[in-house]
Amino acid sequence: MLPEIVKGFVVLAGIFIPLERILFLHKQKIFRLGWATDATYFFTGHFIGRSGALVVTVILSLMTNLLNPELQSKVASQPVWLQFVEAIVISDMAYYIAHRLLHEVPWLWQFHAVHHSSEHMDWLAAVRVHPCEQIFTQICKIMPLYWLGFTKESLVVYALYSAAIAFLIHSNIKLKFGILKWFVATPQFHHWHHSKIPGINNKNFAVQLPLLDLLFGTIYMPAKKMPHKYGISDSIPAGYVGQIFYPFSRMIKNAR
Ligand SMILES: [Zn+2]
Ligand SMILES: [Zn+2]
Repeated sequence: MLPEIVKGFVVLAGIFIPLERILFLHKQKIFRLGWATDATYFFTGHFIGRSGALVVTVILSLMTNLLNPELQSKVASQPVWLQFVEAIVISDMAYYIAHRLLHEVPWLWQFHAVHHSSEHMDWLAAVRVHPCEQIFTQICKIMPLYWLGFTKESLVVYALYSAAIAFLIHSNIKLKFGILKWFVATPQFHHWHHSKIPGINNKNFAVQLPLLDLLFGTIYMPAKKMPHKYGISDSIPAGYVGQIFYPFSRMIKNAR
């Protein structure tokens, strides 16, 4: 029997690789530069994600006096579809703030720079996230939902949607979403966030709801243009282990 994570990898590759061959935005190889590094993130990130959920549970169990059972039962009594819509708005708002901090606080940027180091965008680039950033953003996104009392069913639907969107927005796919592009994050929206053009990668901070960037004046989504170069000018190691140590080595250098 194959472990769930291997099955997940096979299913995602089975969906996105053919889509990226048919609807490609940029012509590129499946096993592009950094593929093995990102595949390593895929398998390790699964376990780190689990520990993030555990951290959220521990924090909440220490904060029981801050919970509001009346509010929680009101939230939980709503239909699953409504909780799902609310979860998107609340968690993406929290992510928006966390993501801006990752860009604007210098020591946090050292961790986030790892995600921006991808020079080729495809579905697998989604998982290149430093474990410390993964735990930090997971706590920011999930904590409000747990605290508000969203039901398990709505959290499962939300988690599946959230994962699907993360792979979609990084994928090398050219697809028109029409008016939906304001309500659902798309490659057209998130690829600009990875653009190598200075200043443009400081736009589009949401990952699910582009309307938030429109609201806060950080949107950049031209109708007929897409970026051609991705990445950042910081020199980030190419391998997994080097990338894990990168933020710490930068901090030590800066402290000297
Ligand atoms: Zn970013
Ligand atoms: Zn990204």
